[in-house]
Amino acid sequence: MRYSEMHLPTGREIPSDAEVISNQLMIRAGMIRKLTSGIYSYLPLGYRVIRKVEQIIREEMDKAGAQEVHLPMVQPAELWQESGRWNYYGKELLRFRDRNDRDYCLGPTHEEVITDLVRNDIKTYRQLPRNLYQIQTKFRDEVRPRFGVMRCREFGMKDAYSFDADEAGAETSYEKMFAAYNSIFRRCGLKYRPVEADSGSIGGSFSHEFMVMAESGEDAIVFCEKCSYAANLEKAEIARPEKNVHLEKDWLPMESIETPAVRTIEEVSAFLNVLPRQIVKTLIFNADGKPCAVLIRGDQEINEIKVKNYLGAAELTLADDDMIVKATGAPRGFAGAVGINVKVIADYSIMNLVNMVTGANKEDYHLKNVNIGRDFQVAFFADLRVSEPGDACPRCTGAIKFVRGIEVGHVFKLGTKYSKAMKASYLDRDGKEKIMIMGCYGIGIGRTVAACIEQNFDQNGIIWPMPLAPYAVIVTPVNINEPDVMKASEDIYAELLACGVEVILDDRDERAGVKFKDADLIGIPLRIVVGLKNLAQGYVELKIRRTGKSSLYATGDVVREVRKIITSELNEAD
Ligand code: ATP
Ligand code: MG
Repeated sequence: MRYSEMHLPTGREIPSDAEVISNQLMIRAGMIRKLTSGIYSYLPLGYRVIRKVEQIIREEMDKAGAQEVHLPMVQPAELWQESGRWNYYGKELLRFRDRNDRDYCLGPTHEEVITDLVRNDIKTYRQLPRNLYQIQTKFRDEVRPRFGVMRCREFGMKDAYSFDADEAGAETSYEKMFAAYNSIFRRCGLKYRPVEADSGSIGGSFSHEFMVMAESGEDAIVFCEKCSYAANLEKAEIARPEKNVHLEKDWLPMESIETPAVRTIEEVSAFLNVLPRQIVKTLIFNADGKPCAVLIRGDQEINEIKVKNYLGAAELTLADDDMIVKATGAPRGFAGAVGINVKVIADYSIMNLVNMVTGANKEDYHLKNVNIGRDFQVAFFADLRVSEPGDACPRCTGAIKFVRGIEVGHVFKLGTKYSKAMKASYLDRDGKEKIMIMGCYGIGIGRTVAACIEQNFDQNGIIWPMPLAPYAVIVTPVNINEPDVMKASEDIYAELLACGVEVILDDRDERAGVKFKDADLIGIPLRIVVGLKNLAQGYVELKIRRTGKSSLYATGDVVREVRKIITSELNEAD
């Protein structure tokens, strides 16, 4: 394409509301424009990159046996009522009415629509398994849209759904998608890692998030420095410690101490002059309407997702004041396990503590020298806390480290959650009616593009990896008013086009400096500079965006060299 004809409005100014580098660069490079909060338009350059990602996804999904469909974005409320999500989904679901006063929503995801489609058309085991995918616009009314297209409200997603006759089949479908995702992100040229994610009630290792490593990432990832263990912080497991059986010899007599208006761990620690690690935090949770006391060491944090999964609760929240008073007999801030008459579960962190400090279940009182087994009983010890750097790896002897990442994809075994609620069944070999087992698999298209920029930029702009580059080459005549320079540039441009290379000819009547700055900003991997001096010797300059390295090639050789580089960089990612 000729630059002079391109709609490529680049800019030097850093947009004031763009917090992350990818958002700044996508705006400056003329890739996107914000229409309103969390809603963006893609300009030609940005849309080319989107299509590159989509193409890689399509190829790998098709290779894995998935088939492309296109489902409606407008979805009737009835389907969401059937699955039970109409009331559950909350404000992220944009709802509206049509002229006949019927309720609809804009699809934030498509489990309901696909399950409806499949239940109507699939009748027997002979039609299973099936994996259907689409690349389509989603709408989620995010509370805080931010980071440009990384967390926006309207965005493109590839979503696939698998339907299987049995568990073993569902697991095979999952493995296939897991492998396809690895191929997709590798081919996109990303530094990424699949991490174990929370799989809610399904359990097991059937939920992975694909994380692109980046400082600006919203997710904390836990990984082992020694083995391949990696997990989302929400899910990161903590190994069960060895039980110390010789604790009793150190037990001191329990004492009750007046602690007026002393409630928080910090206040108790300061008032009693004990370290937070000697204090036991007693949290009262409301698990599906029932109170439950959860104990953890004062210096550590409860992971509510673990508590929820451990209790098998559909809903878990911290108890309100009313429930706390009923459960403990005291106002908030004085709960403890001694004498409490609700179920007590405890994190491993307090398993080996002696002479702890806890609330006394009495306003303005705490207890000192509390010991498990003598003063109270624990129903279960479990892994309920948030992992910390330096924790032992749950799989080997290594230590846990933290990095930040951007979730670009998610593979998830759904089980029968939707198929059961929406009665997606089939007739099995034995003539019995059975429920299909589902999996769902998403990739954020725009987020993948932004994540790629977060990993590939310098002070001058974007540095596209070849597979996602909107154009592989830019041919830059230093001065378009020199006929020889222009002639050589046009020839190289035509030759590249003829070979099917995606190329820009920067035919603008601008200073070379301006052209170089734009080429760097938009991140074209290869630049061919045609200048009078080199041309007089029969040479042009080939500059590599990533390394900044430039070399001279004979005008007749440069296209061959460019094609060699492109092929090798595309194959490297394959
Ligand atoms: P997050 O935790 O970041 O909100 P999610 O768990 O809600 O993500 P999924 O429902 O699994 O995401 O959606 C699949 C993919 O869609 C995500 O992996 C991500 O790449 C993309 N995605 C989700 N929400 C957004 C958004 N608001 N803007 C852009 N992409 C998104
Ligand atoms: Mg979300």
